[in-house]
Amino acid sequence: MYNILLDKWDEIISKLKYDYDIADVSFRTWILPLSVDSVDDNIINIIYTGANAEMALQIIKNKYFVPFKVTIEEVIGQEFELNFVTTSTKTSSPQSDNVSSSNTPVKQKQEDANLNPRYNFDSFIVGSNNNMAHAVALSVAESPGKWYNPLFIYGGVGLGKTHLMQAIGNYIITNNPDLKVLYTSSESFTNELIDIMRSGKKDNTDFTSFRNKYRNVDVLMIDDIQFIIGKDRTQEEFFHTFNDLYMSEKQLIITSDKPPKDFLLLEERLRTRFDSGITVDIQSPDYETRMAILKKNAELKHYDIDDSVFQYIADNIVSNVRELEGALKKIILFANLSHQKVTLPLAQDVLKDLISPNLNIKIDCERIIEIVGEHFNISVSDLISNKKTKDIAYTRQICMYLCKQLTEETYSGIGKALHRKDHSTIMYGVKKIQEDIYDNPSTKNLIDVLTKKIDPN
Ligand code: ADP
Ligand code: MG
Repeated sequence: MYNILLDKWDEIISKLKYDYDIADVSFRTWILPLSVDSVDDNIINIIYTGANAEMALQIIKNKYFVPFKVTIEEVIGQEFELNFVTTSTKTSSPQSDNVSSSNTPVKQKQEDANLNPRYNFDSFIVGSNNNMAHAVALSVAESPGKWYNPLFIYGGVGLGKTHLMQAIGNYIITNNPDLKVLYTSSESFTNELIDIMRSGKKDNTDFTSFRNKYRNVDVLMIDDIQFIIGKDRTQEEFFHTFNDLYMSEKQLIITSDKPPKDFLLLEERLRTRFDSGITVDIQSPDYETRMAILKKNAELKHYDIDDSVFQYIADNIVSNVRELEGALKKIILFANLSHQKVTLPLAQDVLKDLISPNLNIKIDCERIIEIVGEHFNISVSDLISNKKTKDIAYTRQICMYLCKQLTEETYSGIGKALHRKDHSTIMYGVKKIQEDIYDNPSTKNLIDVLTKKIDPN
């Protein structure tokens, strides 16, 4: 880890300067004289070698502790404790206990396999959006190469594909240490291949080592395969790698933003291979899963945050886990930097740009139906259809209520917007939600959130 930090140090401090908009002079004075002195378990000792060390250290700790913590975590993908020292305090820096020797090989293996230790099954929340993918992933982790080969995971951005895939790898490394695991993004796979072709050595030694690297493994994971499909030479090389491993019953795991059938340029022979394994998808998380992910996230970081803050985020950020985590991170960071507690008003303030960026908008029934539909992940066409499933019917009644509250429309006008003939249906729906608001604080909260979305000003 020490070497990785040394390698990445320049990247860490330039990112820090950029992300926190640190002036050149401050950067030269406080940041440049810092370097990694040593790493003890998960404590990084950062040493200051400039002038006025004691005073400088106080300032650095006060001002840059959180930025360093956040940036290091973002660059390395792992959380650390930080200990700032000077040449004179160095000897008193905390020493770790003897690192258990059985840990070291696992860590080393994770690095060799390109795996981020944070992506494991323990930190992966299972919900209705991903339970099938999770179950299959776990059984692949338990018996690689046996049941489901290849495993193809697809889904939109930020929904947990990389996390789940790497969880399989981390599980295998821990529980099946004889197996060799390798994770790669399809970008690195492509770039390596391009580099070899560009170097154009006659004796093919580079090709041989490329092939050996990818074929001498027991578990190969290729992330975001969509970047390979359609690139002829890379796809060809990938096919041979794939075939080789598949024939020798090695486990292949692939992720993509769409299912194999949606790839127009996928070679038939690859399609056949993919079809012989199993394809699972990950959808957007529902409300309960969003809440669970947020809580787990805060718990892992040892933050004690009120439920109302989680509810606010989970109500408003619906599509993507990465954004969900980003919102929480932003709130915590802001609270830390401004020495405030994380409260609902603070969260609302920090996220206001994410949640309500539009000015000058016309509030009519069409807008209301669209926003409410989007919020619940129900299409407008379902809302104006005759479908009567519980979710759709309830969402439709919310639309009725909000149209009545936020526009001048009559009951029959609202009925028209929702394609209902009978205006008494609308009256009933509005009344139903009104009663719900009295009975149930969470409905009131929901209506407040939706109102804010519809009319952010
Ligand atoms: P993808 O590869 O699909 O774009 P990632 O795997 O990179 O998405 O996930 C984005 C972020 O969301 C990561 O930090 C990941 O840990 C987190 N995440 C996604 N799904 C879950 C989940 N079910 N439980 C916990 N964290 C999740
Ligand atoms: Mg990914």
